[in-house]
Amino acid sequence: MSASTDPIEPPRLGEPYLLTPGPLTTSYAVKQAMLRDWGSWDDDFRGMTRDIRSRLLALLGEGAEDFDCVPMQGSGSFAVEAMLGSFIPRDGKALVLANGAYGQRSAQTLTYLDRDHVVLDKGDYLPPRGDEVAQILADDPAITHVVAIHCETSSGILNPIAEISKAVYAAGRKLLIDSMSAFGAIDLQPSDIRYEAMVSSANKCIEGVPGFGFVITRTSEIEAAKGNCHSLSLDIHAQWANMEKTGQWRFTPPTHAVASFLEALKAHEAEGGVAGRGARYARNRDVLVAGMRELGFETLLASRWLSPIIVTFFCPADENFVFSRFYELMKAKGFIIYPGKLTAVDSFRIGCIGQMDEHVMRRVVTASKETLAEMGVVSAAPPAAALEERAKLAA
Ligand SMILES: *Cc1c(COP(=O)(O)O)cnc(C)c1O
Repeated sequence: MSASTDPIEPPRLGEPYLLTPGPLTTSYAVKQAMLRDWGSWDDDFRGMTRDIRSRLLALLGEGAEDFDCVPMQGSGSFAVEAMLGSFIPRDGKALVLANGAYGQRSAQTLTYLDRDHVVLDKGDYLPPRGDEVAQILADDPAITHVVAIHCETSSGILNPIAEISKAVYAAGRKLLIDSMSAFGAIDLQPSDIRYEAMVSSANKCIEGVPGFGFVITRTSEIEAAKGNCHSLSLDIHAQWANMEKTGQWRFTPPTHAVASFLEALKAHEAEGGVAGRGARYARNRDVLVAGMRELGFETLLASRWLSPIIVTFFCPADENFVFSRFYELMKAKGFIIYPGKLTAVDSFRIGCIGQMDEHVMRRVVTASKETLAEMGVVSAAPPAAALEERAKLAA
């Protein structure tokens, strides 16, 4: 497909590339779609809302006919809160599978919502495995729902969601997925992986601008969710019922973000859908990781756990390496990178998503090499403690 092999247009207006997991670098067409105003009640805007809902559903693939899509104003966390509050009944109990900041945030959300829950906390980056989930569910029959993070963006680990789903449904429970940073680039076909609902947002792998998220859920779950939600504005059932009836969002929609998201969805389709988008990101990751390893950097994760979304690298042990300086020098070369989020060792992250291809990733590696030289860093090798930490993952 020509769209995926054409070099990607560099950002205009002299903007740096955002090597971050959203907001990310968007195309000019996406930005341009925001250069007009829309009436939220107008037929044209209602048509756009209908269009994005059906296009998002189509990305599910086989099994999509049992699902519906409900957009929700706010950042991704608002949509996560909407999903948890709407689908976990007040007398339900959740098991949260946490291995990073976003799993912790789901658990914290449940505390705010006053929903009973337990957390399987795997630390910074170890994957929750199917057999562990099965054991916890067997030991605690009160658990009704399991909450899993698809790609835990804080380390970049791609969690084994198929294995988790099998364990959940073998025990007769329900799975809710935070696929924020994975949906649109990594398959989540209901005929392969069973779940009740998943959530993502406009400014991740579909490459739109921030402003709203969306919950994709079995229609039967939405109907059953009536009256569950603790919140007026985050009530998925109410938002869905209103959209079905009037075609409108209940409260002011982010009209410009919606219009540009439709543009982003068309580009996603032209690139070959989930497979095409996922292939470009995987190539971005492969080029980035190979190049950085050649410079002496080490990834936190072994290759089998690396997602095509974002990669965590250990900071070099060399005393001349100071992350804030590395950041500024990379920015001066046109690349905004991302600080690490690990508790035990120093790290930084480089995102593979957004309007970037392997040519850009090669330039990121070159910029890193030049920056190390400017800083007088002789070796990019991490401290021994980091490698010991990583060895736990292999054990
Ligand atoms: C981005 C992200 C979120 C939502 O974060 P917001 O800052 O609220 O948009 C939630 N979960 C994961 C895994 C994410 O990557």
